[in-house]
Amino acid sequence: MTVVRTRFAPSPTGYLHLGGARTALYSWAFARHFGGTFILRIEDTDLERSTPEAVQAINEGMQWLGLDHDEGPFYQMQRMDRYRAVVAQMLEAGTAYHCYSSKEEVQAMRDRFTELGEKPRYDGTWRPEAGKTLPPVPADRAPVVRFKNPQDGDVSWDDVVKGTITISNRELDDLIIARPDGTPTYNFCVAVDDWDMQITHVLRGDDHVNNTPRQINILNAIGAPLPKYGHLPMILGPDGAKLSKRTHAASVMEFAAMGYLPETMLNYLARLGWSHGNEEVFSMAQFCEWFDTDHLTSSAAQMNMEKLAWLNNHYIKLADNSRLADLARPQMIEKGAQFDGAPELAAALGLMKERANTVNELAESAMLFFRTPQPDPALLAQHLTDAVKPALAQFAERCADIEFSKEALAPMIKEVLAANGLKMPQLAMPLRLMLTGQLQTPAIDAVLVLFGRATVLERVKKYL
Ligand code: GLU
Repeated sequence: MTVVRTRFAPSPTGYLHLGGARTALYSWAFARHFGGTFILRIEDTDLERSTPEAVQAINEGMQWLGLDHDEGPFYQMQRMDRYRAVVAQMLEAGTAYHCYSSKEEVQAMRDRFTELGEKPRYDGTWRPEAGKTLPPVPADRAPVVRFKNPQDGDVSWDDVVKGTITISNRELDDLIIARPDGTPTYNFCVAVDDWDMQITHVLRGDDHVNNTPRQINILNAIGAPLPKYGHLPMILGPDGAKLSKRTHAASVMEFAAMGYLPETMLNYLARLGWSHGNEEVFSMAQFCEWFDTDHLTSSAAQMNMEKLAWLNNHYIKLADNSRLADLARPQMIEKGAQFDGAPELAAALGLMKERANTVNELAESAMLFFRTPQPDPALLAQHLTDAVKPALAQFAERCADIEFSKEALAPMIKEVLAANGLKMPQLAMPLRLMLTGQLQTPAIDAVLVLFGRATVLERVKKYL
C-alpha cells in the first residue's frame, strides 16, 4: 500500500491566492486519492511579513473551499527547539559548521567572484576540511551556521511536473542554516519539517525550484528519506501577465465576494494545470478519484474569466435555492430589498438563476421582486392603452378566484387575450410594468405565481 503524506505550507504574509489554493487543492486531492494524510503547516518564521490576520485569511480560504487537513496546523515558530536541536546534531556530525566571516567579508568574497566572472558565493574560509587549519576564532563575533554542501557531483530529482531536473553542486553555496542569534533559516526549516512530518510528496509552486536542490542536500545530510517533488507552473491572469493582486482578482475570498461558488473555484482550479481527457465539469469526489501527478501540465495556465463564469452559472443552476438565498440575502438587504410581503426569496432566485453567472448578478437581477415598482409613466402610457384596459380588468376579475399556478393561469390569460383580440405581449408588457416596474422579467405566468394573488391584485388594481 502506498503511504501518501502531503502538505500545504503557506507563508502567512497575505491572503490565500489562487496559486496557493491550487497547490493546496492538488496536495489535498492527492492525499485523498490514496487515502493518505494532508497536513497544514504555517511557515511563519519571517517575523516581519507574517501576521495573525494572514493566518486567519488562509484558514478562511481553506474552509470556504472545504479543503480539510488531517494534521496541523503546525507553526514553524513553535518548532524552534526542534530546529536548534537538528542544527546541533549537524554541527556534531560535521555536516554543518560555524562560520565567523562578517557580512562585509562575505560581500567582499562575492564581489571578488563576480569580478572573476564567476557566480558570487561564499569562499569556504571556515569550511573544515581534513588537514586544513581554520583561522583563529574572533572573540567578539557570534557565528552563523553553514551547511556543508557537497562540492562535487549533481543533485537530481525526477520532478513529477517538469521531468528530471539536475543541478550541479558547484552552483550551490554553503547555505546559512542558522543566524548568529541561532534562529534557523527558511530552506533548513522546510527540510526538517518535511522530514519530521514524513512528507512523501511535495507539490508547490515552481518559484521553489531553486530551493529544492538545497533542501535535498540537507535531507541527505540528516539521513532523511526524500519526498517526490512536483513544481506547479504559475497561474497567469486573463491578460497573460503574472497574476498579481494589483491588477487582477487574485485572492480566493475576492472571488467569493464577487459571487463565485466554492465548487466553481475548486473545479476551475482543478482543471487549471491538470486534465482528465476532455472532462471540464466534475465534483471533488470525482476529482479525488481521478487526480494523479501524471496529468499535471508543465506550462503556465492562463485564467479564462468566460470559462469561469460559465462554470459558475452551471453550479448556480445546480445549487439549492435556499442556499442561494442565504448567499444573496445580505447583499439584497444592502440594496434596499423589502422582504416583507414579498415573494419567497429562494423561489425568486430559482426563477432568475438560469442566466446568472455570479451570485451577485443573481442578487441584482432578483431585486425586481423586492422593490416597490415605479413604472416609468411614459412607458406605462405606451403599453397600457385603452385597447388593453378592458382585458386587464377581466384578467383582474378572474384572478380573484383562480388557483395561482402556471397550469391555471396560462390558459386563463389565453382566454382573456382571445376575447379581446389581443396578442400576448399586449397584456404581458403592461403587467410586467405594473408588477415590477420593468419590461424584462421571466415568463409572465411564472412572475404571477411568484408574486401571488394578493400582490398581483394590489398592484394591478392601482391602474384600473
Ligand atoms: N511557504 C512557501 C510559500 O508559501 C511554500 C513552501 C513549500 O511548499 O515548500 O510559498
